Amino acid sequence: MSKFYLTTPIYYVNAMPHIGHAYTTLAADAIARYYRQKIGEDRVFFLTGTDEHGAKIAEAAERDGKNPKLFCDEIATLFVSTWQRLNISHNHFIRTTDEYHEQGAAEFLRALKVKGALYEGDYAGLYCNGCESFITEKQLREDGLCKDHLRKPERIVEKNWFFKLDKYLPKIQTIIEQGAISVLPEARTEEVLGLFRQGMENFSVSRPNVRWGIPLPWDNAQTMYVWVEALLNYWTAVHKRQMFWPPDLQIIGKDIIKFHCIYWPAMLLAYYDGDAEKIPKTIFAHGFFTVNGQKMSKTLGNVIDPNDLCDRYGRDGARYLILSQFPFGSDGDIEEGKFDEKYNADLANGIGNLVSRVTTLCVKQITDWQKFWKLEEEQEIKGEKQDAKELINNFMLYEMIQSVIQDARLCDEILAKEKPWQYDKQKEQEKITADLAYLISRILSIAKDIAPFLPLTTKTIQKKIDISKKIIEPVTLFPRK
Ligand SMILES: [Zn+2]
Repeated sequence: MSKFYLTTPIYYVNAMPHIGHAYTTLAADAIARYYRQKIGEDRVFFLTGTDEHGAKIAEAAERDGKNPKLFCDEIATLFVSTWQRLNISHNHFIRTTDEYHEQGAAEFLRALKVKGALYEGDYAGLYCNGCESFITEKQLREDGLCKDHLRKPERIVEKNWFFKLDKYLPKIQTIIEQGAISVLPEARTEEVLGLFRQGMENFSVSRPNVRWGIPLPWDNAQTMYVWVEALLNYWTAVHKRQMFWPPDLQIIGKDIIKFHCIYWPAMLLAYYDGDAEKIPKTIFAHGFFTVNGQKMSKTLGNVIDPNDLCDRYGRDGARYLILSQFPFGSDGDIEEGKFDEKYNADLANGIGNLVSRVTTLCVKQITDWQKFWKLEEEQEIKGEKQDAKELINNFMLYEMIQSVIQDARLCDEILAKEKPWQYDKQKEQEKITADLAYLISRILSIAKDIAPFLPLTTKTIQKKIDISKKIIEPVTLFPRK
């Protein structure tokens, strides 16, 4: 693999950054960090950002008495600072109000028009302002409200520019069936193929009367439909970094599968004249979670701010608690009341306690450091483990974390069995040196495996356990809560 381009969805600025955004972004961050270790820093491009246009944002800004750009600036800044706090290592943060994006998106659509993939028509039907999306009767609840927003969609009749989806559907279907785009987890492939069986209509790429948007370059009465514009961010962000195209991994939530697995590759096929090498390789749709068994909502007051987690558990502690709850790709529940318990069990009393105990013993018991490091280097368990590789290839982040926690537990068992503190420092130095060198090499291996998830912890361990030096003080990582 010569390059790795991965993306998160761009987040709509109608909400403050919360643990849901953090979950997706952290997962992408861990994968980006893993690939940087594997293929080199400058071969990975990790993109995230904010989605800022559309009627809904204009309305929210108006309610706040702000102009929409200023409104977006404030929320985008919050996203950037939250990602800094969580130590997210994105290479670029895109905002759809950035000039290069506006120009790039206009250029893309102009090309689609030139290639004959667009046509002008009338749309008559329903539109949910909450979804920022056209909606059919079939998708509504029995009482006629949108399932997600519990509001009545508007009936609209308007002129739109449409994309000829029907022309590309058969090819997209074959591409997905043959796995040229791999949609993961596998159950999601079935879901996408189900959409083909239901049938899909051509979709709008522009709307009139939405002023907060990018004007169509050839028809100023229309602005780009927000969804189409948002999808183009993945393209405009690397427009000047062509070596990264196409995306190798696009992480999305399971609610936006249709846009990402069908509309988006279809638009790319149209732009690249049917070249299937230019469309995304893998689309991974993660699941949703509830907090304490309930859907997270402002009204219920159970929205978790990742900044609060950083305050209490530290940056790595927050990363850990967010990523270690349930397998990536499944739905799950986050038990907020168990954060302390989990943090203590896995980090403070787990990895933290192990590292502290072993380094304390080294400080007290080791006399021959040269011999100690020589033995440490000779251990064979260092380096990437086979199963870790399989796990990352399937994006099994939760299982990767579990395997490291398990490793730390095994070391605890070895320590409890060997009891290196009971040996005589002078008479039994050889045995002490061998035991502790073995444990230190396992700790260094744990540090390497956990690096994508707990980068600061890895750095601390590697700095304090430096093979050219004596270990002069015990290493503390996670204070107990
Ligand atoms: Zn809706």
